[in-house]
Amino acid sequence: MKFPTIAIDGYSSCGKSTLAKDIANALNYVYVDSGAMYRAFTLHLINKGLLKDGAYIESQVLDELVNTVISFNYNRDSKKSETYLNGNNVEKDIRSSAISKQVSPISTIGKVREKMVAIQQDMGRQGKVVMDGRDIGTVVFRMLK
Ligand code: C5P
Repeated sequence: MKFPTIAIDGYSSCGKSTLAKDIANALNYVYVDSGAMYRAFTLHLINKGLLKDGAYIESQVLDELVNTVISFNYNRDSKKSETYLNGNNVEKDIRSSAISKQVSPISTIGKVREKMVAIQQDMGRQGKVVMDGRDIGTVVFRMLK
């Protein structure tokens, strides 16, 4: 039996992640924070020296898409799903102000969105997922085949 995927859309700071986490815990589903994925890719670019003070070269950013594996693992102690970048736990690092300041322009790059949406759709196909983000119900899972 295929289990459902639950999508929670909403603007920044509207409480969607609190609701999504609560639902995931209640149903024993995996919570996926779509914003964390854009944050993780932004962290990767900063670590590689390809994004500095908001400046980047788009072709270099696109080249890095193939070098980035973003995943989530559930932490039984904190009871939270945590973000991994190329196998390393980056849950804390992606919340820094440097990332918050620079993530938005990176998230507007079409090919970056395509990759993140594809990963999100793969996770959605597996079911038992609660995912939140501004475009999760309207775009990501609306186009899921
Ligand atoms: O939700 P959060 O603030 O962590 O998201 C970080 C950034 O990632 C947002 O400011 C936005 O630029 C981008 N984002 C996005 N699409 C999503 C989730 C986040 O473009 N579904």
